[in-house]
Amino acid sequence: MTTHRSLYSQIPATDRLLRDPQFTHLLEKSGHTLMVSLLNQMQDEVRLHIQTQNVLPQWCNDWAQETEKRLTAQTQSALRPVINLTGTVLHTNLGRAQQAEEAIAAVTQAMRSPVTLEYDLDGAGRGHRDRALADLLCQLTGAEDACIVNNNAAAVLLMLAATANGKEVVVSRGELVEIGGAFRIPDVMRQAGCVLHEVGTTNRTHAKDYRAAVGENTALLMKVHTSNYQIEGFTKTVEEAELAHIGRELNVPVIADLGSGSLVDLSQYGLPKEPMPQEMIAAGVSLVSFSGDKLLGGPQAGIVVGKRELIAKLQQHPLKRALRADKMTLAALEATLRLYLHPEKLAERLPTLRLLSRDAASIRAQAELILPHVSAHFADFDVRIEPCQSQIGSGSLPVDRLPSAALTFTPRDGRGSSLEALSARWRALPTPVIGRIYDGRLWLDLRCLEDENRFLEMLLK
Ligand SMILES: *Cc1c(COP(=O)(O)O)cnc(C)c1O
Repeated sequence: MTTHRSLYSQIPATDRLLRDPQFTHLLEKSGHTLMVSLLNQMQDEVRLHIQTQNVLPQWCNDWAQETEKRLTAQTQSALRPVINLTGTVLHTNLGRAQQAEEAIAAVTQAMRSPVTLEYDLDGAGRGHRDRALADLLCQLTGAEDACIVNNNAAAVLLMLAATANGKEVVVSRGELVEIGGAFRIPDVMRQAGCVLHEVGTTNRTHAKDYRAAVGENTALLMKVHTSNYQIEGFTKTVEEAELAHIGRELNVPVIADLGSGSLVDLSQYGLPKEPMPQEMIAAGVSLVSFSGDKLLGGPQAGIVVGKRELIAKLQQHPLKRALRADKMTLAALEATLRLYLHPEKLAERLPTLRLLSRDAASIRAQAELILPHVSAHFADFDVRIEPCQSQIGSGSLPVDRLPSAALTFTPRDGRGSSLEALSARWRALPTPVIGRIYDGRLWLDLRCLEDENRFLEMLLK
C-alpha cells in the first residue's frame, strides 16, 4: 500500500507539465484543449498501471517525449500515403486510381480559387456543371450527351430511377451481380422504384427470352457487365449490339452498366480487352455507365453517356442533385479525359495505364537493382526475386493476370510469426509499405513501385 502511495505521488500535475519549458512548443502546436485532455488520459493510464502492476510505466521518465509521440500519432492523417506492393493496381481499399499530374494540378487550382463551375462567361445564363465534361465525353465516345455523378453505383441508380421508375426492367439472370459493399442489382432496382424482370438462366440467356419479356409496362432492357466473375462452359449471352437491335424493333431503350469500361483499346498495350463505352454507343445502346476511378484512371465518379433526351431526364431528376460530383472531382475528371485526346502519350501520363502496361522484364530489372540493398539489410530472411502475377483490381478483368516480378522474404526460422512481425513493422513505417503474405513468404510485387528512393529509405530505416 505504501509503495502505491509513493508511486501515485510521482504523477506530475497537469499545471506543472504545462508550465514546463519542454512543453512550450507542444502547447503552441496542439493547443491547450487537446493537450489537457491528452495529459489527463495519460495520468489515468499511469494510475491504472500502478494499481494493476505496482510500478510506473517505462515512459514516465520522459513525459515530454511520450506526449510528443502521442500527439504525432493522434494528428496523423487518416489518409496516409502508402507504397502499394500488393500486386493489385486498382486497389479499392487503397483508393483505386492514382491520379495523373495534370489532374492533381487541376484539382489544386479548383480548390484555391472560384471557378466557372456553373457560370457561363460569354452569356449571363447559368450553365449546368457537367457541360464542359459532357462535350469532352461526346467527343471521346460519340455519344449525344453525358451526365456525371458521385460514382458508378450512383450512375446506375440514377439511370434506373430517372427512366424506369414504377416500370419493369428486363435483365438476364446471369447478370444479377453483386459488386461488393451491398451493391446488388436487384436491391438497386428496388431502391430506384423499378420492377426487376429476370430472364433466361444463370448460364444461358437468349434473344427470344428478352423478346418474350417485353410487355406494355417494360421501360428498359438492361445489360450489366459481369465485371468481377466469369461463367465458363455451356453459356450464352446476348451482346449489347444484338440487344440494341431488339430494343429498336420493340421500341424499348437499352442501357448498360459497364462497370469499369475503358476509353482506349487495352489490347494495344498488351492487356486484355475491356468493353469500351464508344463501342456500346456505336452499337445503339441508349445509356452507358462506367466508373471514373477504375480503368479510366481518374477520380471517383460515375459517368453516363448516351441519348440526349434520356440524359436530360437524368439531369432533371431530383436524385441528380443528391448524387452530383463536386468541383474537385470534375476538375480531376476533365484533366484526365483531356489526356485521352492525345493517345500517343496516354501510357506515359496516366498512372493507371503506365503501371498496368509495365512489362515483366522491366519490373524484374528493377528488382535486380534493389535486391542487393535489401537482402543485406534483412539477414533473418532469405530474400529473392520471383515471378508473380499482378491483378488489375476493382473487379476489372477478374480472371486476367499480368506477369510481374516480386521480392519475396522467407523467414530463416521458418516461423509464420516472423512474417507477421515483418509485415506489421512495414505497415508502421512513416510511409507504410504494403505487401502480401502468401505461401510462407512476404511478397512485394514491384509493378506499382515508382518511387524507389522513398521505398529504400523506408525499408532500410
Ligand atoms: C464497379 C462496378 C460498379 C460500381 O462502381 P463504383 O464506381 O465503384 O461505384 C457497378 N457496376 C459494375 C458492373 C461494376 O463493375
